[in-house]
Amino acid sequence: MYAKNAWKKYEGNTKVVFDFCEGYKDYITKGKTERLCVDEAKKLAEAKGFKDLASVKSLKKGDKVYAINKGKNIACFVIGKKPIEEGLRVLGAHIDSPRLDIKQNPLYERNGFALLDTHYYGGIKKYQWVTIPLAMHGVVCLKDGKNIIVNIGEDENDPVLGIGDLLIHLSADQLQKPGNKVIEGEDLDVTIAHMPLKETEKENVKANALNILKEQYGFEEEDFLSAELEIVPAGKARDYGLDRSMIAGYGHDDRVCGYTSLMAVLDSPKVEYTSCAILVDKEEVGSIGATGAQSKFFENVIAELINKTGEYSDLKLRQAFENTMMLSSDVSAGFDPLYPGVNDSKNAAFLGNGICFNKFTGRGGKGGANDAMPEYFAKIRNVLDNANIHYQTSEIGKVDQGGGGTIAYILGNYNMNVIDAGIAVLNMHAPMEIVSKVDVYEAYKAYIEFITKM
Ligand code: MN
Ligand code: MN
Repeated sequence: MYAKNAWKKYEGNTKVVFDFCEGYKDYITKGKTERLCVDEAKKLAEAKGFKDLASVKSLKKGDKVYAINKGKNIACFVIGKKPIEEGLRVLGAHIDSPRLDIKQNPLYERNGFALLDTHYYGGIKKYQWVTIPLAMHGVVCLKDGKNIIVNIGEDENDPVLGIGDLLIHLSADQLQKPGNKVIEGEDLDVTIAHMPLKETEKENVKANALNILKEQYGFEEEDFLSAELEIVPAGKARDYGLDRSMIAGYGHDDRVCGYTSLMAVLDSPKVEYTSCAILVDKEEVGSIGATGAQSKFFENVIAELINKTGEYSDLKLRQAFENTMMLSSDVSAGFDPLYPGVNDSKNAAFLGNGICFNKFTGRGGKGGANDAMPEYFAKIRNVLDNANIHYQTSEIGKVDQGGGGTIAYILGNYNMNVIDAGIAVLNMHAPMEIVSKVDVYEAYKAYIEFITKM
């Protein structure tokens, strides 16, 4: 069903939509970092009988396995009836979200406060990250090989952290600045303490903060050097709106597509073609490195699948990729009634109209776009219409208004068919993003149709 409000389909039966979204709210409440998203995904997969790929010697039709890369990517597979070289049905999403990373040398004391210096990650409007409750998550890796897990600010008895902004009374100069300079990158420092340890000691507030970190977490100042600590909005994902029709939360981009893709594969035990949900890192900074979509990880895992289902050859690996069909499961820019001017409303994503396909992304003259094959999208339309799934199409705003990218082109380089397909989000990249529950559920249903019928 193209571009029609999906809520009508669930009239008298919204419970199925709302119940599914409770699972999602729990997932993003716990999954505040890419590592935590992988941990949660692993738990969900194991609960559905998925086994670590490394622990099985051989694979046959119906087997369910997962592979994890460096704690930051997970790929879950259901082995299909057809051999791997005939291609897979892949749902790929990213689980990194914009945030503030703690620098390697972060801690300093100034005017009676101890602060941590940050470097923002991904595209943010910096002014949105001040004067809100923030949490700190991540790992501190010690020289002896031990990893300390840090989680501060989520439990209601925890303290929260935060970043200050100038009081309105003294903001005459600040408010003359353009929006991208109102708060500058080097001003995004997090306040962590202000109580001195001993009056005699120099920098005694910092000394006190270090004492707390040592006593409660077991690490020292120098251990920040090998830490990965992320500052994110504190608190749970919540229902949004009097009718509870939406979800307000941090990290919908792109954990909302990550969760729905994952659950589609976990909940579809029988498939013709081997199905896969892969959750990747580093999309917000270009998909680079060992844990981004450009990593060899995915290729290596597919090679393992070929090896464990039969006899490996390089040709089979290439055939597997070329015959694969994929949805790049990523969010679309939702049409905001307060800012209608940035969109061409005929080609915009509306909350409530179901899963949204972007034939292309990019900027300017489609620069950097994966422009999906129309033949491919015609097949998808047929599958979705046969299942009465609500879907829509969009592009990111008006021509020359801005733009963005996804992981689609990276997998497209393997000569597989890929199209962007995800959920419309309001306030994208803000500390509080909004999605419609019916889109979350409709995307899940669409992903199931894709892996079972395409
Ligand atoms: Mn995204
Ligand atoms: Mn993004």
